[in-house]
Amino acid sequence: MKLKRVLKDKNVNIKQEKPLIIAGPCSVEDYDTMDKIAAGLKELNIEYLRGGAFKPRTSPYSFQGLKDEGIEILKNIKERYGFKIVSEVLDLRDIEYMIEVVDVLQIGTRNMYNYPLLKEVGQTKKTILLKRAFSATIEEWLNAAEYIALEGNDDIILCERGIRTFETYTRNTLDLNSIPVIKQKTKLKVLVDPSHGTGRRELVRPMSRAAIAAGADGLIIEAHIEPDKAFSDSEQTIDLKELKLIIEETNRIYMCINKN
Ligand code: PEP
Ligand code: MN
Repeated sequence: MKLKRVLKDKNVNIKQEKPLIIAGPCSVEDYDTMDKIAAGLKELNIEYLRGGAFKPRTSPYSFQGLKDEGIEILKNIKERYGFKIVSEVLDLRDIEYMIEVVDVLQIGTRNMYNYPLLKEVGQTKKTILLKRAFSATIEEWLNAAEYIALEGNDDIILCERGIRTFETYTRNTLDLNSIPVIKQKTKLKVLVDPSHGTGRRELVRPMSRAAIAAGADGLIIEAHIEPDKAFSDSEQTIDLKELKLIIEETNRIYMCINKN
């Protein structure tokens, strides 16, 4: 693997006290719903709020996100609660105004191979959350990170979100193998997305535990006050009670494996 910028150097693996948790709805729906979700997440001491304003949907007839109106809602929520905002960028042309609000630019699974987009976010000073393409080998994924880093931005967090296999019971197959590989080979943080990784809300908690046990630095989870009413990815969206349990359980696992 010919990589230079993302490879492990000495003195890395700076330990956090707790897993990094990013939570929130799949998409930004309207101000009131976002406000209620935000209030609930604040009570759980969550620092990073996710919400897609630009939604890359499989069907062009599905809800495509509120776009700039969604970014405006995120801006107001950020001002009110002080969250760091995580949101997906789909188009080069949106970067300039998105970075006025968004702290972590998410590159989605469909855009991991979009090299012009990778290069462009590599020129920002934002944290980049780089999701693994559902068809990418670990090597292709790390090369995508290298594209970003080569532009001067090595503030990159990788996100394992499941890959496509022959299994159809789950939406994707969460490849937890990738976690220790990334920790061994690179200096990057890696999060796991058990929501897209499973596509089923009853599997989110067990796979969250497994992800942290495998050495992930944190989780990105789709959560909503009324999961059944979520505009997108409702089947994999959990409520805030379940999220609370996940946080408690994964904190314990994280402490246990990072003791020394
Ligand atoms: C999302 O986070 O809502 C999303 C679309 O993720 P992915 O790109 O992993 O499918
Ligand atoms: Mn989603």
